[in-house]
Amino acid sequence: MYQAPRGTSDILPEEQAYWRFVEQKVTSICQLYGYERLDSPVFEDTGLFARSVGPGTDVVEKEMYTFTDKGGNQLTLRPEGTAPVCRAYLEHGMPNLPRPVKLYYYFIPVFRYERPQAGRYRQHYQFGFEAIGEDDPALDAEVIDMAWQFFLSLGLHHLSLQLNSIGCRQCRPIYLNALKNHYASHATELCTDCKVRLERNPLRLLDCKKSSCQAVADSAPRSTDYLCSECRVHFSRLKEYLKLLKIPFTLNHRLVRGLDYYTRTVFEIQPRDAGAQSTLGGGGRYDDLIEELGGKPTPAIGLAAGIERMVLNLKKQAVAVPPFPRPQVFIAHLGNEAKDEAIKLASRLRQASTSIIMATGQRSLKAQLRQANTSAIRHAVIIGEQEVKSGTVVLRDMTNARQKTVNPAALPGLLG
Ligand code: AMP
Repeated sequence: MYQAPRGTSDILPEEQAYWRFVEQKVTSICQLYGYERLDSPVFEDTGLFARSVGPGTDVVEKEMYTFTDKGGNQLTLRPEGTAPVCRAYLEHGMPNLPRPVKLYYYFIPVFRYERPQAGRYRQHYQFGFEAIGEDDPALDAEVIDMAWQFFLSLGLHHLSLQLNSIGCRQCRPIYLNALKNHYASHATELCTDCKVRLERNPLRLLDCKKSSCQAVADSAPRSTDYLCSECRVHFSRLKEYLKLLKIPFTLNHRLVRGLDYYTRTVFEIQPRDAGAQSTLGGGGRYDDLIEELGGKPTPAIGLAAGIERMVLNLKKQAVAVPPFPRPQVFIAHLGNEAKDEAIKLASRLRQASTSIIMATGQRSLKAQLRQANTSAIRHAVIIGEQEVKSGTVVLRDMTNARQKTVNPAALPGLLG
């Protein structure tokens, strides 16, 4: 017997109501804020991710599903959604559109070779949106507002918004220097991974979950103390706008995000009292990414959020989602002629938009009605020899077992 590969899962019929609920909320929030949908391929040239996500990151170094196809192309299953959107933006002439260009993606499978655990999978699904071509902090506030309103619209409570600014290519090198000096003076207290990060990706040092490294992170210099004047003004305007919008935020000096392309604003939305493992969504500015991919300098900001984490939290917080509608009618039949009538009736009713499950095979009436019960279907229509002769059907209310003989033409009006 085969099983789903480690770190992947099936989304079973009983889960689908949650996924559909999330999808409806995604569609309405994107419409509300003026975003259009863009779907990109599941795989892209490996170089796209290596270049944008960054060579020193965990995603590129350890987690990508990379393969060579039969034509010798080096391809990677998408480990995130922003770089493909930027690639498509450049490829399809979108820099000529009025700015900012607002795009969203939904239900994209994302692949990362991670250690599977609750809320962390090797294939997961994301929703995300990107606003490209504008550096106004009012846009940062709008993106954060949209993310915040989205999670609220799901009915989730006790959320916290974490916020930081990690500066731009002018001021960040100075900060990184200070950060490296701090960590170098604590080198003996660092875990093996952090010793490597110190050389290759110092910003990620702040993200380490090991307790000895956390103590070093607590006393580390803060990026917001090293911002150049433009970044400082940008960040303080953003905070003012968030206050204007009454969106509560917590400044988190250790929030750096995992991918290299982020600049200035970074943010995450987490269930309060839960660790980073449960982050619902996160995002930030990536003002240099489009240029890095061959376009003109183009500031941009976006968010990505994991659908499985949303579903986990909807269940944990006992949010009631609308159930999937059940089929309205079960058609049971006895005898070959009755079966012919049942087939015709099912077809007629479906064409009149009544949802039907018709019994197949040769089972007793009792077994057929048991199936109707198990499937929680409200009405059963029963056709036996007698009904074939008289051109009628029996309509049974499965909730109270009351039955009446009716003309099949009257059924649509009787089903309610
Ligand atoms: P990231 O691109 O790492 O910021 O991820 C964006 C969002 O996707 C996170 O906030 C999570 O909700 C979700 N996510 C990231 N990695 C995983 C994973 N391995 N399994 C499930 N969800 C994930």
